[in-house]
Amino acid sequence: IRVLEESPYKGAMKKYPPVKYLNYKNRKRILITGGAGFVGSHLVDVLMYQGHEVVVADNFFTGRKRNVEQWLGHPNFELIHHDIVNPLFIEVDEIYHLASPASPPHYMYNPVKTIKTNTMGTINMLGLAKRVMAKVLVASTSEVYGDPTVHPQPETYWGHVNPIGPRACYDEGKRVSETLSYAYAKQEKVNVRVARIFNTYGPKMHMNDGRVVSNFILQALQNKTITVYGNGRQTRSFQYVSDLVDGMILLMESNYTQPINLGNPVEHSIEEFASIIKGLVGGKSEIFKSQAVEDDPQRRKPDITRAKKYLNWEPKVSLKDGLQRTIDYFKMELERSNQDFSE
Ligand code: NAD
Ligand code: UDP
Ligand code: UDP
Repeated sequence: IRVLEESPYKGAMKKYPPVKYLNYKNRKRILITGGAGFVGSHLVDVLMYQGHEVVVADNFFTGRKRNVEQWLGHPNFELIHHDIVNPLFIEVDEIYHLASPASPPHYMYNPVKTIKTNTMGTINMLGLAKRVMAKVLVASTSEVYGDPTVHPQPETYWGHVNPIGPRACYDEGKRVSETLSYAYAKQEKVNVRVARIFNTYGPKMHMNDGRVVSNFILQALQNKTITVYGNGRQTRSFQYVSDLVDGMILLMESNYTQPINLGNPVEHSIEEFASIIKGLVGGKSEIFKSQAVEDDPQRRKPDITRAKKYLNWEPKVSLKDGLQRTIDYFKMELERSNQDFSE
């Protein structure tokens, strides 16, 4: 038996980023479901810097402990390994409900689970909000508009969704999530906020996330073929993650209770987007057009009049700056994974 004479942790005090001190009146206890994921972990950082107590509940399906590792052990931070399909009994003031796979390959991997997460999971969070009288912000999506026939998409548009297609588990799941939010608001007086989030990118996206930004950057960095699905004329509008996080916090703090689009209205075709990324990364990748994917929305661009009017919010980070920061992150991640491999 090896006896440790000295604690291995002795003297090894962890250094945390500085957080603001808030007195008990201003300090909130905030639950973030899906807080170990891409968007959630950025939200965790900002709320921690602001001095709040943050509880993350995550089942680590697509999220990682590494995304929140800088806070592990911090007195204001708690990480719970929990699947929100099951009830959760804790005491909180606010809930940011983000738990759900977001990338098409991830949400299509187990469609039934995606539906359960967005229906049963949302019921549990609304039930929790009802019991403890917490405010709850539900992360919805531009996918509620489906393959839109109105362009750009205002919140008043009801959408054009195929209820039985491959994306339905996510699109309809989020639509039910919204329906549940307003049913709990009306029937149980739960204080709800609904953010319709448009395509978002940035550091801490998973390398194998499968979404277009991470795919194209990785392909360009590795001099591999850049895979455009279909003719590349379909459009998207990409928002940098810090803009989204600012918008979500403003929405939670506001008195506005109707759904609100959070996205960057600068629209590009996917083909243009491939060239932009290739231009920023450099390298020898070729752009290749492969078969289109089923039910791929052909156009997407948020109308953000509401967010401007009620939240005084609009995106600040340009596509070029945001992409550069994301490319730098992926370069680091690639070096790290190469090192892991050689060890
Ligand atoms: P992500 O996959 O990085 O994060 C989702 C997180 O939820 C992960 O940490 C995952 O482990 C967790 N999760 C999934 N199912 C769970 C369950 N049953 N119980 C507990 N945790 C669970 O995705 P993201 O991009 O950070 O998206 C966050 C939220 O924002 C999602 O609700 C997504 O639908 C929404 N959204 C994101 C985008 C985008 O472009 N990133 C666009 C629209 C909407
Ligand atoms: N719930 C939860 N945490 C709570 C309170 C409720 O997870 O703190 C769950 C509860 O298990 C239930 C769901 O939320 O399945 C909906 O709660 P609600 O009170 O609306 O429904 P009821 O309990 O009356 O079925
Ligand atoms: N796309 C692509 N190549 C890829 C990944 C995605 O051409 O390697 C396309 C996809 O068909 C869609 C757009 O890029 O038209 C955005 O896809 P993503 O999965 O990022 O998000 P979506 O908005 O479809 O949920």
